[in-house]
Amino acid sequence: MLKVENITKYYGDFKAVDNLSFEVKPGEIFALLGVNGAGKTTTFRMIMGLLECNKGSITLDGKPIDYSVTDDIGFLTEERSLLTKLTVKDQALYYGTLKGMNKKEILKRLDELLERFEVSEYKNRKIKELSKGNQQKIQFIMAIINKPRLLILDEPFSGLDPFNVELFKKEILELSKSGSMIIFSSHRMEHVELFCKKIVILLKGQAVIEGYIKDIKRDYRKMNIFIKGDVDQDELLRIGGVLDVIEKSDEYEVKIESEQVIEYVFDYIKTKKNITKFMVEEASLNEIFVSKVGEAYEK
Ligand code: ATP
Repeated sequence: MLKVENITKYYGDFKAVDNLSFEVKPGEIFALLGVNGAGKTTTFRMIMGLLECNKGSITLDGKPIDYSVTDDIGFLTEERSLLTKLTVKDQALYYGTLKGMNKKEILKRLDELLERFEVSEYKNRKIKELSKGNQQKIQFIMAIINKPRLLILDEPFSGLDPFNVELFKKEILELSKSGSMIIFSSHRMEHVELFCKKIVILLKGQAVIEGYIKDIKRDYRKMNIFIKGDVDQDELLRIGGVLDVIEKSDEYEVKIESEQVIEYVFDYIKTKKNITKFMVEEASLNEIFVSKVGEAYEK
């Protein structure tokens, strides 16, 4: 298990991470979220052992992070860190050897991964000759070449097309099924919601929300109802517990303060004609993110 306990990091007088704690268990996929400058990369660097915390502690399976455990950590950083003059194969041999693998193991795993990422033809090409997206695939392959216990992915999907996002997600899910712990950051909440159960949202280095997405959504309480048909926006707004009504191209989105309000809106709908849609949805993670970060800024 990865245990991050009360970590704080200063750059000079500036506090970039403030008393942050969370845990990631084997097989869990965990998202570290936050606006630009919230402290995500700084947190990743502390977990990777590249920066020291000023306070607090980080342990992986009970051991502090040092050279004895860094072989078990794979990472994909936001900035590219490949040796671009090398071929893909030589980069893998170099990186895999650093991670304690032998040549045979490295080449077997590389061939498997190149095939899964549909880039086998680039094995003997220099990295600098590859497109940005393909370089990102190679960097991801390097990060997982030794099936790390802990995988850290800083913005893994940036610059990828939707097809390649799916390839990355599939691989991440497989690693988690085999027991790896995965932490990633992303500004795309729809990616987070699709395959991750637990999150922290950081603001100015502090956690403003943390826990399982299902609990966060339950506690948030607000929901949305989508209605198609002949309804009146002002009448809807007069129903107790309706917070807002947004007219969309061919439907209304009714924002309600809690589940109890659904039946009041439904009672109103029953008095109307031509209703072809009445659909209730929990608030999206994006909505919760915007609302909570907004609230915290106002404090
Ligand atoms: P982004 O989403 O933009 O990548 P982030 O959440 O990863 O942002 P960090 O890169 O961790 O944020 O930065 C957190 C804060 O610390 C920012 O205000 C940043 O300006 C500051 N910071 C980061 N690195 C340094 C440094 N080496 N020296 C001084 N301040 C720094």
